[in-house]
Amino acid sequence: MASRTINGRIVDIGAAYFTAEPGTPFHGVVTDWVERGLARPWTDTLAVAEADGIHGSTTGPARYAAPGGLRGLVVDLARGLAIEQEITVQHVAPGVADGERYDAVVLAMPDPQARRLLDGRSPLDAVLNTAWSPSIAVVLEWEARQWDPFRAAFVNNAPEVLTVADDGDRRGDGAAVLVAHTTEQSARIHLDDPDGAIAPTSAAVQRLLGLAHSPTRTFAHRWTFARPTTQHPEQFYWADGIGVCGDAWGERSSVGTAWASGDALGAAIAAALHQ
Ligand SMILES: Cc1cc2nc3c(=O)[nH]c(=O)nc-3n(C[C@H](O)[C@H](O)[C@H](O)COP(=O)(O)OP(=O)(O)OC[C@H]3O[C@@H](n4cnc5c(N)ncnc54)[C@H](O)[C@@H]3O)c2cc1C
Repeated sequence: MASRTINGRIVDIGAAYFTAEPGTPFHGVVTDWVERGLARPWTDTLAVAEADGIHGSTTGPARYAAPGGLRGLVVDLARGLAIEQEITVQHVAPGVADGERYDAVVLAMPDPQARRLLDGRSPLDAVLNTAWSPSIAVVLEWEARQWDPFRAAFVNNAPEVLTVADDGDRRGDGAAVLVAHTTEQSARIHLDDPDGAIAPTSAAVQRLLGLAHSPTRTFAHRWTFARPTTQHPEQFYWADGIGVCGDAWGERSSVGTAWASGDALGAAIAAALHQ
């Protein structure tokens, strides 16, 4: 749920949207966000495309977007908690983070990132075994909108682009900004130099949407661990004062899965600490 200010405007460069199954606790959280204007149902219909253009659409659950950017929803969840942001933790062991003792330490991040913080001899090291694939987010900005409305598109059989979303449409300000996420194949080519993905991705998006002009401004962001290709069957890990949660813990990687995983781990820790 990452939003970046690019050329003075917030752009969502991670998740394109999120869903929430009615009746679940996460749906209650989302309903509260909607009531407070932080999130809004965006669409239930997305375009289906091939490299040469949009060929149809698919309808599914409500996809939610955030007028102020998805990151604002995470900030909202953290409100009222004693949180220090923008600190990179270097080393974690059961009940210890960077030399400080805690009742519980939680690693809420992709397994490969969590593994880097352990000393390699932890039994947890072997548990953190999910594989992840990369993607590069490419932000494309024009002076004016020049495409037929499409919300977002799943792109099949294209070497460069997996999805493309209309950021002006989902954010609701009508800005002429698209965000494309590359395929794993293209991301691996450009992982050491994400800016190298801009030209081929822009060309692919222009071909797909029939856009004559190149974007006036661009930006690339590397997601080395974008999506897990395998999932843990459990909802979280918790033992000896250390816990792990996130979107690889549950049925299918998504924002809702990550929230449910963290919520379940939080409940388990609270129960353990208050015995
Ligand atoms: C390109 C892309 C597109 C996606 N599209 C969708 C979508 O359309 N719909 C959907 O539902 N989901 C989507 N997802 C998945 C969704 O973003 C994740 O499921 C969700 O963000 C996982 O949340 P999390 O809190 O578990 O982990 P993360 O969002 O990965 O958060 C982990 C946090 O830990 C921090 N961190 C890592 N190491 C350290 C350290 N050493 N010290 C301090 N902090 C650290 C990171 O900076 C990060 O802020 C997408 C993901 C990507 C990358």
